[in-house]
Amino acid sequence: MTKTLETTDAGFFTCPACDAHALEVARRYTLVQHFDDTLICDCGATEDGTAATRQRRVTTVRREWGTLHADQHYTLAGRECADAQTAVLAYTIFCPACHETAADAYFWAFAERDATEEDAEWAVQCAGCGRAYETAQQEEV
Ligand SMILES: [Zn+2]
Ligand SMILES: [Zn+2]
Repeated sequence: MTKTLETTDAGFFTCPACDAHALEVARRYTLVQHFDDTLICDCGATEDGTAATRQRRVTTVRREWGTLHADQHYTLAGRECADAQTAVLAYTIFCPACHETAADAYFWAFAERDATEEDAEWAVQCAGCGRAYETAQQEEV
């Protein structure tokens, strides 16, 4: 059963069931990252030294938990990540020779272009007895 938290100030929170004064937050979300990868051409065939470029989207489901503060922020105590799913969105080869000898993932340089969090779900519970509460959305600090 979910009880609505009367005050937004969790610092004054007192659990009616166990008298605890701390709230725990658990959060589940999907992290979507976009990467621009570059493979170096070192044979001199290309002017800018780029053998290939690649755009990837990496999707990871994450679970985090921590302690909620009075201002709705929380301190991260732990995190679990599921296996990342990778989709290649674009792939351009400028130097086939270098690409053939160096396309092993080890030689790619990765640059994260952006990262967004989607499908976030929140759960807040008493740190003492685990009773569930509803509160406004929290942010990690
Ligand atoms: Zn080359
Ligand atoms: Zn409690």
